[in-house]
Amino acid sequence: PSRTLSNFESAGNNIMITIRTTRKFHQKRLPYMYDTWLNKVNGSNVFLVTDAEDEEYQEKSRQLGIHYKIISCGKDYSRWSLCCKSGEEMALMHRPENKQYSWFCHLDDDIYIILKNLVNLLSKFDPLKEPIYMGRAGTHWKKPFKLSKKQKMLEPQNVHPFHFAVGGMYCLSRAMLDKVKPWLGNGETMGDTCNKLLQPEDVAVGATVELLAKERLSRTKLFHPHGLILSRFVNPRTLKDQIGFAYGCGQLCAYKGYKNNAIKVPNARFPFSEDPSRFKSLHCHLFPDSALCK
Ligand code: UDP
Ligand code: MN
Repeated sequence: PSRTLSNFESAGNNIMITIRTTRKFHQKRLPYMYDTWLNKVNGSNVFLVTDAEDEEYQEKSRQLGIHYKIISCGKDYSRWSLCCKSGEEMALMHRPENKQYSWFCHLDDDIYIILKNLVNLLSKFDPLKEPIYMGRAGTHWKKPFKLSKKQKMLEPQNVHPFHFAVGGMYCLSRAMLDKVKPWLGNGETMGDTCNKLLQPEDVAVGATVELLAKERLSRTKLFHPHGLILSRFVNPRTLKDQIGFAYGCGQLCAYKGYKNNAIKVPNARFPFSEDPSRFKSLHCHLFPDSALCK
């Protein structure tokens, strides 16, 4: 079945979107993305990066034009596996067949994106000339995060507080990708960098940009990670103006008191039990004519 794409969707054609997931999360997490915003974007710009075959999602991806990539980095929630997967995502940008992309946006598998607003934000920069690292600055550390002395691959004089993008969403311009390629160029390289810095993927990307490549995080508050209490910090009247939303609390749920972390959607179309991420209700709030909302 052919899908018609509105103007803003083709406007994102210079952005490669990679979604990092793992086979065991497909059933639980991918429907909230595939049935909502991914259903509306040009799938050929989207790469699902996972770690095993899955007939159902290989077929669904084919229908939407989304690339289904199986990466052998390890399937677990370990520093190495996650860094390696992200490095493989970035490596896609360095392949000759993907030279037309001038932006790279990494997403975890628990994110909703309003692509039109993302395109709008990124269009303020020249991705081929300006090294841009766009994201939401960390919320866990009030001050920029400092590496300890042990985390050496850096000369002591270069170890200072830095910012990194949290929440499983960030974008790098082509100029920035080229600058960080020595450290984040592919799975192996990025896995090594994380191990040397003793940091998880998001922190390691920030450290690489700010300490090794000597560039800066461009901060946006339009990305809403699940490190925030989303119902409190995202104003339901402004949902259409935002760029990205997460839900749940990922690995943090294990130790935090709240478990239903999600945005509030006005006149929600679906009850919480059918739509705990709120992405389906959000999608109907933004695009009431979608098939999902009938
Ligand atoms: N992930 C993975 N293997 C695992 C667990 C998680 O590849 O065993 C990926 C998952 O698909 C997501 C990211 O790691 O892209 C973050 O997972 P989650 O949202 O559960 O945790 P967070 O770090 O956001 O708290
Ligand atoms: Mn998460």
